[in-house]
Amino acid sequence: MNDYLVKAIDKTKNLRLLTVNAKDMVAETQKRHDTWSASSAVLGRTLIGGLLLAAAGLTGEEELTVRLLGNGPVGATIVTAKADYTAKGYVQNPHIALPAKSDGHINVKKAVGQGWFEVTKDLGLKEPYTGQVPIVSGEIAEDFTYYLTKSEQIPSAVGLSVFVNPNNTIGAAGGFMLQALPGASDELIDRTVKRINALPQLSSAFLDGMTPEDLARKILGTDCKILEKQDVHYACDCSKEKYAEILATLKTSQLNDMINKDHGAELTCNFCGDKYHYSEDELKEILTKKDNQKD
Ligand code: ZN
Repeated sequence: MNDYLVKAIDKTKNLRLLTVNAKDMVAETQKRHDTWSASSAVLGRTLIGGLLLAAAGLTGEEELTVRLLGNGPVGATIVTAKADYTAKGYVQNPHIALPAKSDGHINVKKAVGQGWFEVTKDLGLKEPYTGQVPIVSGEIAEDFTYYLTKSEQIPSAVGLSVFVNPNNTIGAAGGFMLQALPGASDELIDRTVKRINALPQLSSAFLDGMTPEDLARKILGTDCKILEKQDVHYACDCSKEKYAEILATLKTSQLNDMINKDHGAELTCNFCGDKYHYSEDELKEILTKKDNQKD
């Protein structure tokens, strides 16, 4: 595993930066959902953005879900990321490939379309918090930036990149999330924006072996401080027990149909594609528990 994230701060301690190489994480997601180029770019960028957002603001058991709800051909894209540097996600239509743009890049904007960008944070409180903004770009990094600035009032810059090989495997994936703290001067922000605009194309740089530390120094300057380094990985927390709990919420008649007509049930996890099979006996057990709960 070469995937890791670094947290860095500039010399004046007014700019926080997270950079990440997430190639293995995006490659695992591509394999599990058999996504084609446009779907891989949309899901991969959202996955990296969600991971960075979680790493920037969550602690302990907290998690967040990003919903990119566009009217483009890929449909809805859902990503859940946790404070423990793991993320998972899926896209409604995995088999989307579009003609490349004139610069040769994947037409992510067209794949996403117009609609809403939503972030729900589960911070262990009674009600999860949801922030929603319109999709302003569809290129996804700009949408994360807009969300952070508008909904969380944090002046930010975000870069997200996924390089898809001609055979649909993932060649490179990574990104950054920069946040300005209230003490950041206009001069400092201007200088940093200039550095970001002068960055090499991210996917080419990652393909050439750029590390998260290299990227941090390119954005914050060579005198920045690397505070933390964390492994990141793809992870789904689904289990047969968890899906049994979902089955138990079905109506008794539906469970009886599964037992008497289908003689079993098979559920597939949307996030990771793992399948869980329940035999007639296991379904009867779920039904019995459900009946007991009613008493
Ligand atoms: Zn799963």
